[in-house]
Amino acid sequence: MATLQGVYADLVGQEHVVETLIKAVQSTRTGEETQEMSHAWVFTGPPGSGRSSAAIAFAQALVCAHDGCGTCNECRSAANGAHPDVEIIRTEGLSIKIDEVRELLTRVSWAPSMGGWRVVVMEDADRLTESAANALLKAIEEPGNRTVWLLCAPTLHDVLPTIRSRCRHLQLVTPSTEAVAQVLQHKDGISPVMANFAARVSQGHIGRARYLAKNEDVRNTRNTIMKLPLTLQGISSAFAAAQTLVDLATEQATTAAELRNEKETDDLALAYGKGATGRGMATGGSKAIKELEKEQKTRQTRMIRDGLDAALLDIATFYRDVMMVQAGASDALINKELEAEINAVAAKTKPQNTIKKINAIMEARTNLGHNAAPLLTVEALMCVLAR
Ligand SMILES: [Zn+2]
Repeated sequence: MATLQGVYADLVGQEHVVETLIKAVQSTRTGEETQEMSHAWVFTGPPGSGRSSAAIAFAQALVCAHDGCGTCNECRSAANGAHPDVEIIRTEGLSIKIDEVRELLTRVSWAPSMGGWRVVVMEDADRLTESAANALLKAIEEPGNRTVWLLCAPTLHDVLPTIRSRCRHLQLVTPSTEAVAQVLQHKDGISPVMANFAARVSQGHIGRARYLAKNEDVRNTRNTIMKLPLTLQGISSAFAAAQTLVDLATEQATTAAELRNEKETDDLALAYGKGATGRGMATGGSKAIKELEKEQKTRQTRMIRDGLDAALLDIATFYRDVMMVQAGASDALINKELEAEINAVAAKTKPQNTIKKINAIMEARTNLGHNAAPLLTVEALMCVLAR
């Protein structure tokens, strides 16, 4: 792990990607055109593998005077969206529309304000509509500018062929449980027992592992969710379980969103001069606050959906474990804490049935991704799981 320093410290298991990025950054320092650097990159990888972390680390390194130290002002402001030359596009909606891309292109057509690179990180390039993608393509093809495009998507197939053919591709992989546990221990100072638990149940998703390891409330919620399959004994219990699941996801998303909203609103009010001279906000302040509140509402809806999705993935690991026991591979359980319960379910159900349940969970996740009503979707799922 010696190579993972500075802005790259979190990218465990992605040493092959980090090496490419370090070379690309170094090549830009000579001022000559080289093979190592490109104006457009696509980062792909499974959720949680760190594709956007890798892209943001690269952006930081490009604008940092020390190739991505991780501690200087440039590095820090680039990561939290406060650097004038680094733009991080996070989509709260389900798609990125052409208007948003046009607006973005206008912004980035300005020359880099600090004289170096201007970097755009697009976290959900798979959500570009076709017309939006075509608008973006023109900008990527434009020669001679100092803008670097870093697009993130689950797989290459999620990016329009015309765009991906112009990008260098970096594939991230799911890091091993051991690698994630190591980072939690050495970087975050988490105890070995907790680090191993969080890494194991988070399946290589380092962000979730860290969140779980650091928050007792989140662990308690997960405990409740993991025991839901055990409560399923018929239709009425299925409806009750669905309600519990949706409530928990909503509650967790709301708490997380409120913390973020409050800080954003305060920051914005401060930017408009609130409290500075004992007077109210400058002109436009209350309008800006209203717009922010609207954005926050959209985001909260997406956070609830994401929370629900994460909960369903957790429940899927329960049935995955049941299937492992039914297949005679009981030593590879994700949910070791529930071994007795998992063994009991495995003994009284059939493998075909377990597979059906896992498929139903994946189908429910897909439907939620397509904007299906959360409670209805989860109710229908729980009825299948209760069979
Ligand atoms: Zn730096």
